[in-house]
Amino acid sequence: MRKSRFGANLIPDKVFGAIQDIQPDWLRAHGVRGLAVDLDNTLAFYGQAEPEPQAVRWVRSLVDAGIPVVVVTNNSEARVRQFCAPLGVPYVFRAGKPRLRGLKQAIQMLGLPPGQIAQVGDQVYTDVWGAKRSGMTALLVSPMQKGHFLFNLRRWLEGPFIRLARREEESA
Ligand SMILES: [Mg+2]
Repeated sequence: MRKSRFGANLIPDKVFGAIQDIQPDWLRAHGVRGLAVDLDNTLAFYGQAEPEPQAVRWVRSLVDAGIPVVVVTNNSEARVRQFCAPLGVPYVFRAGKPRLRGLKQAIQMLGLPPGQIAQVGDQVYTDVWGAKRSGMTALLVSPMQKGHFLFNLRRWLEGPFIRLARREEESA
């Protein structure tokens, strides 16, 4: 019934403060067996060439828990190849989110039905919208870089959908 509501594809299934708050136990309890993870402002600051130790630990803890991870970014191959090397996970570059091609590629790489995959990202109009239309669970995290006026503007535009997600969670 949620599907039929206008804008339903823009409502995240769950909002987290940061990637580290997304843990294997929670994922398993919600039927998630694999993750498609956005790069910029989700795993890394813009232009940050190498992952922080916390990001490496988080990705490894998931993979070790049997939850495979694919990084899906609209950024270039050079950027994501360098960033993912220490993580040891595959990636999709120039994914063109919110269009579905790159996300479908990630689903294929994970080898799971979309209903068992969660997409993790910081943007409602690219990550959440693409994830929901692909049939994946959409997990929204706070952008790593806050305070810039463009991010503030974007969060303001995303606000209604984030509030709806929180309200649905409270009433669930
Ligand atoms: Mg992002």
